[in-house]
Order: sequence, then structure tokens, then C-alpha cells
Amino acid sequence: MRTPDTPPMTDIGLDHYWMPFTSNRYFQQHPKMITQAKGAYFTLSDGRRVFDCLSALWTTALGHGDPRITEAARKQLDTVDYSPPFQLTNPWAHKLANRIAAMAPEDLNRVFFTNSGSESIDTAMKIALAYHRTRGEAGRTRFIGRERGYHGVGFGGISVGGMVGNRKMFSSLMLPGVDHLSHTHNPKEMAFSQGQPAWGAHLADELERMVALHDASNIAAVIVEPIAGSTGVLVPPVGYLERLREICTKHGILLIFDEVIGGFGRFGANFSCQRLGVTPDLITFAKQITNGVVPMGGVIAREQIYQAFMNGPEHAIEFAHGYTYSGHPLAAAVGNAVLDIIEQDDLIARSRALEPVLQESFHALKGQGGITDIRNFGLAAAIDLEPIPGKPGLRGMRVLEEGINQGMLFRVSGDTVAVGPPFISTPDELRLMGETLGKVVHAVPAA
Ligand code: PLP
Repeated sequence: MRTPDTPPMTDIGLDHYWMPFTSNRYFQQHPKMITQAKGAYFTLSDGRRVFDCLSALWTTALGHGDPRITEAARKQLDTVDYSPPFQLTNPWAHKLANRIAAMAPEDLNRVFFTNSGSESIDTAMKIALAYHRTRGEAGRTRFIGRERGYHGVGFGGISVGGMVGNRKMFSSLMLPGVDHLSHTHNPKEMAFSQGQPAWGAHLADELERMVALHDASNIAAVIVEPIAGSTGVLVPPVGYLERLREICTKHGILLIFDEVIGGFGRFGANFSCQRLGVTPDLITFAKQITNGVVPMGGVIAREQIYQAFMNGPEHAIEFAHGYTYSGHPLAAAVGNAVLDIIEQDDLIARSRALEPVLQESFHALKGQGGITDIRNFGLAAAIDLEPIPGKPGLRGMRVLEEGINQGMLFRVSGDTVAVGPPFISTPDELRLMGETLGKVVHAVPAA
């Protein structure tokens, strides 16, 4: 008889769930099903136990199944399970917003809740457009994103994003008026850099060219991930973000940092922008705020941006935007528990302390098995692999599968392997992760 603890059966049939960002036909031949999650480990339905090298999906750095989170969720469900968010609220959402505002830099202190990273990007873009309009600069409608950027899958996000695979099917409906800066990854100049590459600050000057082309009066915002995560941990060159900030300020363009991965400790600070010393005007977040346990995201805005909306009759809605689940009490309660744990266990300091261990274990792979680049920053790292000739992505898939055989769940995107291990990892686990990646890469050669 099945109890709630019994792992779900794997012969339940795989026909009806159309899986996201998955090669569905290949998956049906090679199913991988997670049936238990505890601490920094997953167990698969066939009993294999793997180290969670990417903190699930950059979400679960506190580890799985922390009883403090479970208890907070249980208590919340017994108190207020759902409350509508329009013209009403709940105390847990306010408490969480206050805490996030206190963690954010400078005067970024107004928090708008969403349910995902993609919704956060759409929200930030709408805030940017509406902000300029309410100040009488309705002409500022253009957005500038960056090649290889990932900002989720909404139409706003794919328009400013720069990953061709996510864009090509939808180009007919992409937002008009979007330009893209060049991405900052140039292996010739920066391969095997440890931390921020020295080369590349000048790439930010492209923004001046775009301003010269369109005129600043037409540009609403620039949006970038300070460290591009999904495209394989692309670390900003020294001075690059500073330059973007300078140009945006000079021309009255809002700077949006997508911190969906960078928020809440991944890069050794509350937000990566604090580590990097550059403050944007809007920050998007998601993922780690609830440790992945309940969907939640949001946007943090500067005080002055919020105040620009606070005009017109007091009873009128100032920003016609929001989601049924904005500030959901369950997500908010879990978010508060996550921030408690980060504080109690000093996990941001721990993330920072683990950084050199990860750096060393990854850069030790230089020269092995057709590894063409190694990058790292904070508690994140990636390697690029020489592909199997004529079959891009196949070697990556094999690394994923061989990694599972060897006890490691790596994140693979094409022939790039990324890791962002849990903050609760031990130094030995990070060393083993690096060593195992070396073995796996040897076991699945390019030719
Ligand atoms: N922005 C960044 C930087 C991300 O890494 C992601 C997801 O990985 C998103 C946005 C989209 O988030 P979601 O999948 O929650 O919509």
C-alpha cells in the first residue's frame, strides 16, 4: 500500500505531460524522475542518489526539506491559505517586502510581487514604460537587452533576451523597438579567467552608439543580468557594469538588473549588484526567495520610481498591473522563513567562503578532455566543452547522463556545463563535484 512517503511509481505513463525545455521524445526513451529530495541530494526513481550541483534550478541553495521551511508552510496553511491581493493584503507579504527592501541597495525599497522570473521581467518593463509616461516622457519606449541574455519566456523577456533558440519561433510577435548590446564573452581575450575578466569594459560603450542612433528621449531602459546565468555563467568584465550605469544615468535611461539568479546570496552578497558595486534602478528577483518551495518573484524599485506613480486621485489605482497570486501568503511565509534561515545560519557568508573552493576545483580542470573555457564567480561556475563534431548538444546530454551515473546532477545547456551548488555544501562536496566532472568529461569524449 502506498503511503505519502512512498516514491511515486515510474510506470505511471509519460504520455500526457508536455515537459518544458525538454527533448520530450528523448526523455520518454531515457526518463529521469526525482522521487526524493533531502539536503543537497536528490534520489531518482531507480535509487540513484545525486548531488544537486545547481541547487535544483538556482532555486534551492538552503537545501531540500529544511524542517523550518516545512513548518512555516504548514503553519501558514492553517492560518490564511490564500488572500486576494487587490485592494487587500496579508501581513506576511508586507513583512517580506520590508525585509527585501532592507536587503536591497540604496533607495531600492518598493517591492512588487509576482510568481516567477518571467513575470518579474514583464513587470519591470511595464514599470519602466509607465514611469517615463507618468513623467511626461511617453516617447521613451525602446528597450535595450543583450545577446545571450536570459530573461524568461514572456514576450517581454524573449524580446530583450538574447538566446536564439528561445526567440526564433516567435520573432513575428517580438516587441518592436528592442536593440541588443553584444554579449561580453570573448574566449580569445578571456578564456579561463578566474572571477571577473580584465578585458571587455569597452563593450558597454555600444550603449552610447545606440543612444546616438535613437536619441535618449526614445529609450526607456537597459536590462541585463549582472552575471548571465542560464547562458553559462558569463561574468561581467571589470568596469563594464560601471560604464553601463554611467551612460544610463547620463541619458535618463533606467537600468534594470535581472537578479533572478543573483538575488539572496548566490554571488556572496544579498544581491549580485552589491558585490559588484553597481546599483541599478530596478531589480528583478525570484527563485531563491522561497528556496524554490513555492513560486514567487518580484521587482524592487527605487523610491523615486514608485513616487512618480503616486499622483492622480487617491482612490485611483496607480499602476494597473498585478497577479492573482501576487504576495501569496504561503509564498510570503516561506520567503520569510528562508530569510530567517539565511540570517540564522549566516549563509551568505558561507556562500562567499565556499567561493575559492569552487574556483579551485573548477580551474583544476584546465587542459583536460576538450574543455575550452572555465568561468566562475560567487558560488557559480561553468565549463565549455568541445562538441561532438556535427552534433552540438549531444556531448552535453551525455555529460548529464554520465554525471548521474557518477552521483552528480550537473546543469547542461548545449555543450556548456554549469553549477551553482547549495550554500549548505561542504568544501569536500565541492571538491568531489569538480573531480567527478573531470572524470565524466573524460568518459564522454568529443570524438
Ligand atoms: N531571468 C533570469 C536571469 C533567469 O535565470 C530566469 C530563469 O532561469 C528567468 C528570468 C525566468 O524565470 P522563471 O523561469 O521563473 O520565469
